[in-house]
This record gives sequence, C-alpha cells and structure tokens, in this order.
Amino acid sequence: MGSIISARCPCGYERQMFLGGGMQSFATSCNFPLFCARCRLLFEANLFEGQPLCPQCGEAAIPYDDPRACARRGNTVFSWNARDALGRELTLTDGEYICPQCGNTSLSFAGMGFWD
Ligand SMILES: [Zn+2]
Ligand SMILES: [Zn+2]
Repeated sequence: MGSIISARCPCGYERQMFLGGGMQSFATSCNFPLFCARCRLLFEANLFEGQPLCPQCGEAAIPYDDPRACARRGNTVFSWNARDALGRELTLTDGEYICPQCGNTSLSFAGMGFWD
C-alpha cells in the first residue's frame, strides 16, 4: 500500500505526492521525491528503475532521504523497505528538508493517507 504524503514549506510551497507502490506495483515500483539542485525542482520518480534523472536538465537528482536534501530528521511519516533493490530503507520525516521554491531547509513532510 502506498502513502499519500504532502510536502509543505512556510514560504507557501505545497505538493501532494503518491509515494511507494500500489497493490499491483509494490514489488516493481517505489515512487519517491527527488531534488534537482540545478533546477531547484522537486519531482517524483520510481527509484526501482535506476538512477532518476531530472526531467528538466537530465542531471542525476538527489533522493530526499539523502543528507544533502535533509537538514534534520524528525518523526518518520513514510517508510518503504527497498533493501533488496537499493540496499536501504527509504524514509521521509517531518523534519527539515530543502525547499525547491525558497531554497531554505524549511520543507517538511506529512502523511495524508494511503492509496492502492
Ligand atoms: Zn534539473
Ligand atoms: Zn520554501
């Protein structure tokens, strides 16, 4: 079951994302947010399909669980066991992450529900 996660920043940036995978796709699909530092873009991609590239500039993007995108970890609001595919568990927290709009590390994630 996937999670509906919102990304919010006090600057006004807000985005709702369907993360993880559904009933049919959980083994082959894990949608997860990524950040392109060059374009200041937050986008979602399936991390099980290899290194995701920024849809605007084509550069390798940083997954949001990377320390370069996360200033402080808080309580976990999303976790996905990707140890087989990626060698780690993917997590997002209500801590402090880089915001694509204002560039500050004041973006945080919150769980809004589930999807299949
Ligand atoms: Zn880019
Ligand atoms: Zn912001």
